[in-house]
Amino acid sequence: MPTYTGSCYCRAILYELELASPDDARTSLCHCANCKKAFGTNYGLTAKVPKDSFRLKSGAPKEHVSDNGSGTSIYREFCDTCGSFILEYGEQAKEHFRYICVGSLDDPEALPPKGEFFCKSRASWMPEIPNVFHKEEVKN
Ligand SMILES: [Zn+2]
Ligand SMILES: [Zn+2]
Repeated sequence: MPTYTGSCYCRAILYELELASPDDARTSLCHCANCKKAFGTNYGLTAKVPKDSFRLKSGAPKEHVSDNGSGTSIYREFCDTCGSFILEYGEQAKEHFRYICVGSLDDPEALPPKGEFFCKSRASWMPEIPNVFHKEEVKN
């Protein structure tokens, strides 16, 4: 089984992803306003993985919970020391999936994107990623 390691910037938080296959991860860009703010860039980049594939090896992320603006709670976990964003998930995915911040993987190239969400909010200077799916809105 492929195992992927990851950490925050200061490495207080270390984690492992163990997937039956790389196909079990769905990496996507999200151009929504919440992702812009949470990631501090013009899009969010996460890999959706089964909840049980994620294992914390050291450290304890701090959790932030907020309404995403449409009545759904979004949970975000990040390093309390260096501020690196590690993962997020919505209320409806809570028991099943985690959305791992791809840049926190030790090899972020290991899980390339399969699609883009909220393309209607894409920064005007940013081109589309070729050969992946494109959705104007919803991320799930
Ligand atoms: Zn850290
Ligand atoms: Zn988003």
